Amino acid sequence: MTTPVLRAEFAEAFPDLCLEWRAADFPDASVLQLNEPLASELGLDPQWLRTDAGVDFLCGRASGCYTQPVAQGYSGHQFGQFNPQLGDGRALLLGELATPHGLVDLHLKGSGPTPFSRGADGFGARAPMLREYLVSEAMHALGIPTTRVLAVIDTGRAVLRSGPEPGALIVRVASSHIRVGTFQLAAVLGATDVAAELVEYCLERHYPERSGGGPLALLESVMEAQLNTVAEWLGVGFIHGVMNTDNTTISGETIDYGPCAFLDAHRQQACFSSIDTTGRYRYGHQPAILGWNMARFGETLLPLIDADPQAAIADAQHILGAQAERYDSIATTMWAQKLGVSGRENTEEAVSLALDYLHTHEVDHTIFFSSLEKQAQRYYAADNAHPFWRTWRDSDPDAARANPVVIPRNHEVERALTAANNDQWDYWDALLAAVRHPFDASYAYPELLLPAPAEWTENFTTYCGT
Ligand code: AMP
Ligand code: MG
Repeated sequence: MTTPVLRAEFAEAFPDLCLEWRAADFPDASVLQLNEPLASELGLDPQWLRTDAGVDFLCGRASGCYTQPVAQGYSGHQFGQFNPQLGDGRALLLGELATPHGLVDLHLKGSGPTPFSRGADGFGARAPMLREYLVSEAMHALGIPTTRVLAVIDTGRAVLRSGPEPGALIVRVASSHIRVGTFQLAAVLGATDVAAELVEYCLERHYPERSGGGPLALLESVMEAQLNTVAEWLGVGFIHGVMNTDNTTISGETIDYGPCAFLDAHRQQACFSSIDTTGRYRYGHQPAILGWNMARFGETLLPLIDADPQAAIADAQHILGAQAERYDSIATTMWAQKLGVSGRENTEEAVSLALDYLHTHEVDHTIFFSSLEKQAQRYYAADNAHPFWRTWRDSDPDAARANPVVIPRNHEVERALTAANNDQWDYWDALLAAVRHPFDASYAYPELLLPAPAEWTENFTTYCGT
């Protein structure tokens, strides 16, 4: 195939927000995993990507393929604390690829230190990189907006974590890597003109129907996209784990699969990340945190909204103030579809009873939705059944949207990663195939359809893997 040539739109338009940089050299790099369906979608030939030239391209070292790779700068609120100086500490934007479906970023994660590394090594270990591949594929198959992984590269260079581990990098594909933190950096720099340009760039790239609409149009569009994404997270029982403003994209795509996890038993307070000691990013708190992050986004836009600060705040507040109600409406629609109770007189009551049932009984989230009918048979007969079952009784299963039978259950992910770290790929292959078909039990192996053993979930902890 003809060698792909990436654009440098972001690098050329926003030199104040990035630094020209190169990936580290990995002379022994090889392809560990190639996402062939994604490669084809992007118009890249999977066969070619496996050749030496293809591997060079994926590692950021091919000549003539990139216009100007950059490490992107950003600021961000991490667990509520503002850090003005973050940025791609182990990542590199190779550039943008024009695909049959529009422009996407090709980006490396784990490609070596950059000026933003703050003393860390800039590399990645195999297990967390595979984890990002697996979970983002699952999210994509579940219909949730997400960045994706085109390839996991074995860098041939061990990294030191708690001990030596095989090194890897991923080639990440995203609608863009522009985040709330990118706007926060422009604000820190006091670069109002840059921020204004960034607003227009983001509208054109992500919300072209509102192109030219200015900061309020962008605020509203990002809010709407993110509210939908986060509602979908709750629907499938996803806990992102590190919803810092630098991990909140302008596109609305889910990004950064460090400490994420899935619910087994439905628990509002579920929180698995080792660094989230206060439970800030627990399952049920994610919509509220999104609201907080959107407020931080709105703040960065104030100088662009109106020269009069009070007027600017009032305009931003007008949009942000509608957020909670908008979320409730999106989420109610989503739960109602999952339950098959849309468009009824008592839809809201049925949704609220179902959520109450889930919270009270802490049943397995995935199995509850995928086997409603089967369970209902059992409960109709019971006198002391939770009132949800009576409400649900006359629901219309045909009106329900399909509920997944397979999610990447935490214990199965860990088992597959442990095996893959030891070059055993059977579990990995089986799990990846299953999560790519979440609505079809025939792709799943039996254990994947069962809840995790309780003692396993109670002690489960996720790590950023950095
Ligand atoms: P994350 O938790 O992936 O959102 O990362 C937060 C910040 O830490 C970002 O600026 C990352 O680039 C940086 N970072 C994370 N891991 C590493 C690493 N191994 N080397 C250098 N920087 C890192
Ligand atoms: Mg991040």
